[in-house]
Amino acid sequence: MNILDNKEKILKKIEEVCLKKNKDPKGVNLVAVTKYVSNETTKNAVLAGIEHIGENRIEGLLEKKEYLKDMDVKWHFIGTLQSRKVKDIINHVDYIHSLDRLSLAKEIQKRADKTISCFVQVNVAEEDSKHGLAVKEVVGFVDKLKDYDKIKVVGLMTMAPYTEDESVLRNVFSTLKQLQRDIQNKKFSHAPCEELSMGMSNDYVIAVEEGATFVRIGTDLVGKEF
Ligand SMILES: *Cc1c(COP(=O)(O)O)cnc(C)c1O
Repeated sequence: MNILDNKEKILKKIEEVCLKKNKDPKGVNLVAVTKYVSNETTKNAVLAGIEHIGENRIEGLLEKKEYLKDMDVKWHFIGTLQSRKVKDIINHVDYIHSLDRLSLAKEIQKRADKTISCFVQVNVAEEDSKHGLAVKEVVGFVDKLKDYDKIKVVGLMTMAPYTEDESVLRNVFSTLKQLQRDIQNKKFSHAPCEELSMGMSNDYVIAVEEGATFVRIGTDLVGKEF
């Protein structure tokens, strides 16, 4: 696994898409998802110039953060977050990608020492296996978050269904983009909602075409060791 080569390949693809769509490639942030790799491999990713690391388990994030404590990294929690675990993680992350209920917002409000940049997770395809709000619930939910001053809604996040069907993927990502516009039109001061966290190894090209600003890539970037 040569992470530097992988990174360059991915960035090149992102650049091509952005050129085609008249977007600035610098507007797309690459988050390396390290849930399947060791501390050492994660360190190699940072040495290869990766600035954003994403983990879906609390223990994984805390362990890697400790291991890389002298390095300049932005930490993203991308997994399901149980309310009772918020206190263990909230003051160790830069971004939470999985805000999807008020009970979680309440706990973040109670435990966070500073304002936390949060993505509201949306289950666009309404799959039973996935977390997140249904599309029609999102604007009302974001409105309610104004009462929680420790939460800044920086954007929306989704995971697309696992499929090779491009039209399904494109539809999911463009729906999230439209929802972002709907929220931006409300001009909520607590929810600038400028970002879209969408796209993984198998679908990031389509996600970027449809407006992703954070792609979360594991397998194609750092590999899978366990
Ligand atoms: C694992 C994971 C990813 C990365 O998946 P790959 O297919 O390995 O790129 C992205 N987002 C979330 C929420 C994940 O759990």
